[in-house]
Amino acid sequence: MLGPKISDWEQKRKEWMDRNPGFPNQIPGGKPKILLVTGSQPNPCDNPIGDHYLLKTTKNKIDYCRLHGIDIVHNMAHLDRELAGYWAKLPLIRRLMLSHPEVEWIWWMDSDALFTDMAFELPMSKYEGYNLVIHGYPDLLFDQHSWIALNTGSFLLRNCQWTLNLLDAWAPMGPKGPVRDEAGRILTANLKGRPAFEADDQSALIYLLLSQKDEWGDKVFIENSYYLHGFWAGLVDNYEEMMEKHHPGLGDERWPFVTHFVGCKPCGSYGDYPVERCISSMERAFNFADNQVLGMYGFAHSGLSSPKIKRIRNETSTPLEVKENLNLQSRITS
Ligand code: UDP
Ligand code: MN
Repeated sequence: MLGPKISDWEQKRKEWMDRNPGFPNQIPGGKPKILLVTGSQPNPCDNPIGDHYLLKTTKNKIDYCRLHGIDIVHNMAHLDRELAGYWAKLPLIRRLMLSHPEVEWIWWMDSDALFTDMAFELPMSKYEGYNLVIHGYPDLLFDQHSWIALNTGSFLLRNCQWTLNLLDAWAPMGPKGPVRDEAGRILTANLKGRPAFEADDQSALIYLLLSQKDEWGDKVFIENSYYLHGFWAGLVDNYEEMMEKHHPGLGDERWPFVTHFVGCKPCGSYGDYPVERCISSMERAFNFADNQVLGMYGFAHSGLSSPKIKRIRNETSTPLEVKENLNLQSRITS
């Protein structure tokens, strides 16, 4: 369905790795090679301010990836006409897995999600026996069948046969039109709290993991010890307090790793929140994160609502001594 059936990926990938020792699946230091994948619609936003915020969320991802040795892809094409919109990530992830056998993990991140802890690193060794890492709550999933038990705005998939199989099992509810509409009715009937609308990738994944728990469950790591995805509404008003009491590198409610603007649609179509509130909150999240980047270079935003910056250190003739003492940099490299 997502392409010709592939059933020997484990072996084919290994053969490729053996033939191409110059492209290891690890980065210097021994961490697994990760490709961060994001994307946005092929056309301009209806509301031009949306394009400006898309640029900011992309800059934010570039910054995080540069600091942590992660490669990044921004896709703007619809690889599969039927799997447009939020389903577009499935064919894209599959395509990138097959084109980059050296990549160990594909990390999907929505365009409307920002890194707000620039120092936090994924605890990859925890995920050794797992193939899908996703933010969520097992009780909401398995006991309550809630449609927000997991969030598909930020998750990691291992480049392996299991993942190809999962994508094949996940995609059939996606084709635009009657299939997606009918699947939406099944999802709404089965998932707690789900409004009536066409099938979305998040509900479909939840439904799949519930209905075929034995098939997939043992390779899925449901993460909630830090915000791999963090819902913006509960976070953006607390940034000043976090800055007073805590420091980057924690990743949880003290200093959220990711702030995701679920339900905001600054680019155009109808969202669940007023566009002005979304935009001003995105501005705050961006500047909160950007301060952690600018801080390394001696600058900071005047306030979380302001694109203006100010100097926070004097220029020095011994820049490397100052660098040694910088919080963010030493946290990243330690
Ligand atoms: N997206 C894409 N191409 C499109 C439309 C959407 O790559 O044509 C991506 C984009 O990164 C977006 C994600 O799909 O963030 C999911 O959509 P959205 O964030 O609007 O859903 P929500 O998180 O609000 O449920
Ligand atoms: Mn989103």
